[in-house]
Amino acid sequence: MNLLNNINDFNEAKSVIPGGVNSPVRAFKSVGGNPRIIRDSNKCYLIDEDGNKYIDFIQSWGPLILGHKDSDVINAVKDALNRGLGYGAPTVGETKIAKEIISTYDCVDKIRLVSSGTEATMSAIRLARAATNKNDIIKFDGNYHGHSDSLLVSAGSGCATFGSPSSPGVPSDFSKHTLVARYNDLDSVESCFKASGDVACIIVEPIAGNMGLVPGDREFINGLRVLCDKYDALLIFDEVMSGFRASLQGALSYYDIIPDLVTFGKVIGGGLPLAAFGGKSHIMDLLSPLGSVYQAGTLSGNPIAVAAGYATLKKIKQDLSIYNRLEKLAILLTSGMVKKANDFGFAMQSCVRGSMFGFFFCDSEVKNFDDAKKVDTKLFARFHQKMLEQGVYFAPSSFECGFVCSPMNENIINEVIERCEVVFNELANEQ
Ligand SMILES: *Cc1c(COP(=O)(O)O)cnc(C)c1O
Repeated sequence: MNLLNNINDFNEAKSVIPGGVNSPVRAFKSVGGNPRIIRDSNKCYLIDEDGNKYIDFIQSWGPLILGHKDSDVINAVKDALNRGLGYGAPTVGETKIAKEIISTYDCVDKIRLVSSGTEATMSAIRLARAATNKNDIIKFDGNYHGHSDSLLVSAGSGCATFGSPSSPGVPSDFSKHTLVARYNDLDSVESCFKASGDVACIIVEPIAGNMGLVPGDREFINGLRVLCDKYDALLIFDEVMSGFRASLQGALSYYDIIPDLVTFGKVIGGGLPLAAFGGKSHIMDLLSPLGSVYQAGTLSGNPIAVAAGYATLKKIKQDLSIYNRLEKLAILLTSGMVKKANDFGFAMQSCVRGSMFGFFFCDSEVKNFDDAKKVDTKLFARFHQKMLEQGVYFAPSSFECGFVCSPMNENIINEVIERCEVVFNELANEQ
């Protein structure tokens, strides 16, 4: 595979952009090799600057459930472009997409649009703190909610419940308000409530997709509701990744409870910068200008992004069989991969939720971040590089989720499984 342009372009990028990338995971640091510099895309394919073509399982990290350059989405964007790039004033499109989301999520009466998942979770937490008049929050080790200060916090050492900053630049005065619990472990959550006495909310990825794919157990997620009610705290479902991905109603269709606030992103923007947070009116109406909780954004609800998101949601709703079809493809893919891995003596675990899938090189089920950290990341790195050479683009980390999109079909998935066989054969012979 010729990578000359990719290598030159990446070197040039590194001279003006830290690490050559505008979001760290794109740099391939954990898998090695030269990141592919993408020139074009179509349906489920990416094309790099050397003209190499890849089957894309990242899909812009989740948004592109309809694949690249879906004609309905592109046309909606062109149509919006003809009317201008943005006005900083209300548009009918914002109301339409708000209604589209609300009509899908029963527990959401009102939403506010923002431009990134980071903003959505940050704002939802501010709102939860204001609504409860409390200061602390509980998050889970291995869940990701964007890069705002109070969420860049990881579990402290030993059994400490108060987290420590996971990045320099985050004052411990901020991180001390974030308690970190263990995913799929209700006892650890109750310990946090008891240690704090001042918990405003729990924020959770009900279907965690940022430590690989690790869904919350039913008892665990349902139990979070019980604990929040017991301690008078709000429950925030971070569905930035799982919303409109794991099912039409994201995680809601997998559990029996409803959250107080929900955050959205990725799919609702159809590939452009759009995210949202929402919940019951009595909470949402605390936001400025109705209430006194400040939250704002120059580009919030940008008409081009709204057009792409609305076209995406509309198209999904036109044919809801998309979720079943994509789930079948994801199961075909992961079961095929596991079989090929096992044939060559490699242990592999896999998991599917709708159009999301994950796989780990390990021999027992992954339930939390401690389990995830035990997987064979070196093997993953070699697998990843070889799959890229075979023209298959998986996320460049063991701790990211994969996605299937609607232009994919059984032939394409079977082709990927065959290429996996080639790669596992090579890996087995190298050992
Ligand atoms: C991607 C993601 C975010 C952050 O969204 P950005 O748009 O990257 O800021 C937050 N929460 C979850 C669950 C995500 O997957």
